[in-house]
Amino acid sequence: MRERQQTEVVIIGAGPIGLTTALLLDQFGVDHWLVEQRNAPSRHPQAHFISTRSMEIFRDVPGLEAAIRAQAPPLEQWRRYIYCTDLYHLPQVDTTDGAPKGSLLGARDHFPNGPDQELSATWECHLPQHALVTTLRRFLSRSAKARLMQGYRAAVTATDGMTVTLTSEDGKAAREVHCRYVVCADGAHGGCRPSLGIPHHTSATDEQVFISIHFFSPELSELLAQRILGMLYFIYSPAGVGVLVSHDLAAGEFVLQLPLFPPHQAADAFSKSVCAELIDRLTGAPVSAAVRSVRPWRLGAWVAARYQSVDGRGFIVGDAAHEFLPAGGFGQNCGIADAHNLAWKLAVALKTAPAAADSTPPLLATYTSERRPVAKTLLALSGAGYQQTLAVAAAIGLDKQLAHWLDLLIRVLPLPAGLGRRLFTMGMRLGLRQVALLGGRNPLSQMRWRRLARLFADPSANLAMRYPRQDLGAVYDRGWFASAATADAAARDGTGGDTGIGFTPALVNGGRLPHFWLLPWGADRATPLSSLDLPSLIARRHGSPVHLLLMIDIAAKLGRRLAALQRQQYGEIERVAIRTDAETTAPADFVLQTTGGGYRPRQGAILVRPDGVVAWRW
Ligand SMILES: Cc1cc2nc3c(=O)[nH]c(=O)nc-3n(C[C@H](O)[C@H](O)[C@H](O)COP(=O)(O)OP(=O)(O)OC[C@H]3O[C@@H](n4cnc5c(N)ncnc54)[C@H](O)[C@@H]3O)c2cc1C
Repeated sequence: MRERQQTEVVIIGAGPIGLTTALLLDQFGVDHWLVEQRNAPSRHPQAHFISTRSMEIFRDVPGLEAAIRAQAPPLEQWRRYIYCTDLYHLPQVDTTDGAPKGSLLGARDHFPNGPDQELSATWECHLPQHALVTTLRRFLSRSAKARLMQGYRAAVTATDGMTVTLTSEDGKAAREVHCRYVVCADGAHGGCRPSLGIPHHTSATDEQVFISIHFFSPELSELLAQRILGMLYFIYSPAGVGVLVSHDLAAGEFVLQLPLFPPHQAADAFSKSVCAELIDRLTGAPVSAAVRSVRPWRLGAWVAARYQSVDGRGFIVGDAAHEFLPAGGFGQNCGIADAHNLAWKLAVALKTAPAAADSTPPLLATYTSERRPVAKTLLALSGAGYQQTLAVAAAIGLDKQLAHWLDLLIRVLPLPAGLGRRLFTMGMRLGLRQVALLGGRNPLSQMRWRRLARLFADPSANLAMRYPRQDLGAVYDRGWFASAATADAAARDGTGGDTGIGFTPALVNGGRLPHFWLLPWGADRATPLSSLDLPSLIARRHGSPVHLLLMIDIAAKLGRRLAALQRQQYGEIERVAIRTDAETTAPADFVLQTTGGGYRPRQGAILVRPDGVVAWRW
């Protein structure tokens, strides 16, 4: 007999995105189950770059952003991308300006002016995905609203509302849980999409496979600590091409990503000892490495056709909705923003729509119309970033088509499998000898050095780490906010100088409310509060999400009238009075704290959604 239970929302998958969704639902007091098929989270790192917007979203859960930041290494260890022919011959940390020297081909410092103090109350972070997941789980374990069901595989049936069947690994235990909404955060290969009627994606990639080697090596940490430091080391060595991710220098934790070419190379040939040898070869010196795990993974680049099931009760978030090429660090960050967009909408729908209603509220449909175009933009951007990394290889003389031509040759020639494999390896080795040519003094190598110099001199020609325009400046075209006519005449409303990384905050309907610091009115020694923190602070007081009307230097009576005008469309609205004059005697909730540059709001009213998106302005 199956146990049959009831909850409001079931989230399938406790990866970073399922966990973020759960934590945000918890903030809004929504009862939910989080179902995870694994008995324990994966320890193999994937994502590591956490964008400013993701860190802002983590601020919605008290203490979470600080807990994540506390584990991250200092910026000096991850501010650069480094391009080199090996690690051992990299120049010393204090003798380099990033110009070619030793094995260094070029480097880019992505924080030439340090973290941005004016754009946000927080900034980017570098933390391996498994450490983030562990932290998210720790915070979720305090929730009275979340129930984590670990070791169960979930399947969805959309009849009579939503039913999720949970089956234990051995297939013996089964439960059924009935709910109003299902959120599938089951990753790119999770398999819940078809049960929501969401078609299978098509990927435009060339099916490139990588092998990911997770290892610990205090010796490599010691070696790197003396040399120019970076988050990613793109290594183009005559012994192979790979990307080393420096996850945690203090713990000696690294991942080496290598391209894999099946069927001529097999993932199971990468035993721990083979991997250790490869690590030595790409380092350029023996370092003892304890290989923890080895995993193949396949590139994916697609965005699902829609994010909501036909009946409106099922949603996909994170990698279940999109996959990007591994250039730019968009996957996890985009998923966190998906969860943030969806969680408050579910909470509002649960509160306002009758459980027995035939259709779901229009608010929920705006999840697809808002988030899907963002993913499409990031898909294009990750494709461009991926090409930028290939451009470095091309400048060195490495032909990305070589593997393809060798594959074709081996298929055409009737060779036994073993011989074919050897021919492939030999061909690839010959190709890699182009790297050694860089060391010569001949017209070809000089031409290649000139090409490399051009690539590294032009920030638009090499891979970026930070994308503030897309991360903080993303503006929804269509969704839960006032129409574009009002939205865009004054896209550059307010003030705020260019921060030097090509992004100026603006007040735009459908865009993120810019950050400015506020002090509680009348308090002498209060800690300043960011405008970004207001929606979650007030939602916590309410116990549910609520729209805010920020009344900046306007009379209370006018604020009341404006709120009344918007209530019909947006529901409950909480008014917040802000004065921009610190000397004001007129009562208010907050006074603007003017520190240096940064965004400064003007007199008027701003209606802000529970996720910090501007819905309407007056
Ligand atoms: C090498 C690499 C580097 C990356 N670097 C970055 C980066 O720097 N920044 C960034 O933003 N992104 C990065 N990404 C992308 C990032 O790793 C993913 O976007 C992220 O893992 C997506 O999280 P998710 O929770 O959506 O899915 P997943 O992490 O795949 O989690 C899905 C979970 O669902 C569970 N599950 C699946 N099916 C079921 C079921 N039926 N029942 C119950 N449970 C189920 C799985 O066990 C899993 O735990 C990188 C990816 C790779 C491969």
